[in-house]
Amino acid sequence: MNQSTHTDAVPAQEMFLLKMGEIVLKGLNRKRFEQRLMGNLQRRLNPYGKFRAYSRQSTIYVEPMEADCDLDGAWEGLKKVFGISGLSRSRACEKDKDAFFRAASTYLDDQLRAAKSFKVETKRADKSFPMTSIQLSQYVGGLLAEAYPHLEVDVHHPELTVHLEVRDFAGYVHADPEPGAGGLPVGTGGRAVALLSGGLDSPVACYMMAKRGLALELVHFFSYPYTSEEAKEKVLELARLISPYCGRMTVNIVPFTKIQEDLRRNCPEPYFTLAMRRYMMRIADMVAQRVGANAIVTGESLGQVASQTMDALAVTEDACVRPVFRPVIGMDKEEIIRIARQIGTFETSILPYEDCCTVFTPRHPKTHPTVAELVEIEQNYDYEALCKEAFEGIERIQVRPEQLG
Ligand code: ATP
Ligand code: MG
Repeated sequence: MNQSTHTDAVPAQEMFLLKMGEIVLKGLNRKRFEQRLMGNLQRRLNPYGKFRAYSRQSTIYVEPMEADCDLDGAWEGLKKVFGISGLSRSRACEKDKDAFFRAASTYLDDQLRAAKSFKVETKRADKSFPMTSIQLSQYVGGLLAEAYPHLEVDVHHPELTVHLEVRDFAGYVHADPEPGAGGLPVGTGGRAVALLSGGLDSPVACYMMAKRGLALELVHFFSYPYTSEEAKEKVLELARLISPYCGRMTVNIVPFTKIQEDLRRNCPEPYFTLAMRRYMMRIADMVAQRVGANAIVTGESLGQVASQTMDALAVTEDACVRPVFRPVIGMDKEEIIRIARQIGTFETSILPYEDCCTVFTPRHPKTHPTVAELVEIEQNYDYEALCKEAFEGIERIQVRPEQLG
């Protein structure tokens, strides 16, 4: 798949050219990053038919191998793969000056008709091609200007740039590339456990850490019957919605009712949320231990609620041994919402189901707690036994992008 396969005959159909993003800066590690990216791409393409993906220099070629491949589906899917900085839908053609013109005028016909100005730009990787880049651009540009007399040539600010690429095995024609998802391939940064509630912040936090190359194991704390089956289904749907970016994931549904009821009996009310969050971090650490994850991700944002003051965050993270990543810590709600809309989680996040955090909310939560205060409160109950019991009761549910309708 990688670096090896190609057709000798020119593939006469539409295909995709993808540009690798930050990976190209990776020096000695580049091979590993590239292999992970190719694996992620293949998995993402599988539901849309049989495709072949291979890389040359910093371009990845994706070709459909069957007539009934779903190109539109694959195109949308590829736009969400981290590690890709730009994508072009292209038409392959023979490496011949007139074939380039024919391909451009048929494949980009709609865009050539709609634009007012254009230019042709050529990249030539195959140095044995008999024309220089400038000569080929001028030749094809001249024929296009004749065929579309309304078009003006504008080399500085054209509305449409017709790209010609003379590659080793074929020629390619495409319009300007669209932006890709950016970031680093999921998995290249290791694995982390992400705490997913039903709110707006945590799906965005997951997306942001996956973008930096982390593979995620999701954890949700579920307090049936205080929180409903619908609330659980909502969280699973959020996990599915981010899976086109994050890849397939496991959601660990942790039974949390007994812990919350025990806290209500044994924890002073102002400390209730903090004690509960320490339980969450401990159980997240246990899940991380089981799956080989080295960090914990939350959607906490400084000052958003009483449990997210600097002192409260310090008390919370004291309960776990792994580092806590909080990618939205410095973001306003508006900024978080903008990303939630962009990745498609907003509408689901605002559905009105209760989360376990909102079930027993203290009237006067402690905003400047200390670790010592919490440690003393925790003398009142056997948190280790309760963590163990909750951990053993975990239900694990797989989510995959293919499950989205
Ligand atoms: P979100 O932060 O996702 O919008 P929220 O604001 O209701 O939800 P907070 O009470 O702010 O949640 O909790 C802060 C973080 O703690 C969440 O972003 C999430 O990472 C984690 N968290 C809260 N509740 C749960 C839960 N029931 N299951 C898993 N993680 C949770
Ligand atoms: Mg929040």
